[in-house]
Amino acid sequence: MDGGKSRREETARFKIQEGGLIQVLVPMAPPLLMMNGYLLRDDDGGITVVDPGPRSREAEAVWEEVLQELGASWNAVKQIVVTHHHPDHYGLAGWLQERSGCRVWMSKRAHAEAELMWGPASVMETELPEFFARHGMPEQRVAELREHQAAIWPVVSPQPAVSHVETERSFAMGGREWLPLETGGHAAGHLSFFHPGSGQLLCGDAVLPQISPNISLLPGSDPEPLRTFMDGLSMLRQLPVKTAFPGHREPFGYFAGRIEQLLLHHEERLDAAESLLADRPRSGFEVCGELFRGRISGIHQLRFAMSEALAHLVELERRGRAVSEEKNGEIRFYRIDG
Ligand SMILES: [Zn+2]
Ligand SMILES: [Zn+2]
Repeated sequence: MDGGKSRREETARFKIQEGGLIQVLVPMAPPLLMMNGYLLRDDDGGITVVDPGPRSREAEAVWEEVLQELGASWNAVKQIVVTHHHPDHYGLAGWLQERSGCRVWMSKRAHAEAELMWGPASVMETELPEFFARHGMPEQRVAELREHQAAIWPVVSPQPAVSHVETERSFAMGGREWLPLETGGHAAGHLSFFHPGSGQLLCGDAVLPQISPNISLLPGSDPEPLRTFMDGLSMLRQLPVKTAFPGHREPFGYFAGRIEQLLLHHEERLDAAESLLADRPRSGFEVCGELFRGRISGIHQLRFAMSEALAHLVELERRGRAVSEEKNGEIRFYRIDG
């Protein structure tokens, strides 16, 4: 029996990838279950952590074990880089900063987005449910959303002190110079890092294999997230990427091809959203229900589905294919017949 080997593989906390890049497998809540943190080491042993993961006891244990297996202490962690503000990437940054005493780096825009969502002055807990209610979400679901939003705090606490990455200049990690590339749509201010010499790209959730990154229209954030996302994809497509290291699933090589698929997917979803307006005006909630029919279980997924349906509807509006109107506190989208 080779049970020993398979058990070892099952419990592997990290994989060493080309160029000594270490992919750390961090557990997270369903439906994704896993996210990829990355660890890069300088010649002198100094460690950069990219995307530590969500705050949970299980995720903390993974980093403790990984450092132990590498024979490194918390002091060896010299910097933490966060690609974007989502809890599954940013959540553990403050905890790691407390232990290592090092800086946490994000783009200025991503930091502002973290403040908008989870800063001390954040009003998202009331604004997001109100926003979705105006887009037709029934009160019972809105109440669930309020609870869900409040439950995120422990996953992003403590919050780190953040330094801003200067996107005009290269950023050193693992003894190599990486080019920071800012995109949005999935998350405002999202940073990817490209190393021209190896063709490696740390791309967070900007481009994912198998999964289509969620596009979110949120109150107070980017009003045209799908346009921003697609512009970002067009920019990233120009890079000679050999291997992309994503925030979820496995590293992949078909980067430009994957971008083509994602661009096509969104054009198809725009057509689908437009056709739903053919017979009568609909609210964002109604369009969401049709677009994601049978694929939404629970408030967590509903929240992402709703914000993505709205992202598509406002893009139709921007392209002159739909128009929205607010009546009696509820917004509906109409098709424009050209
Ligand atoms: Zn994300
Ligand atoms: Zn993610």
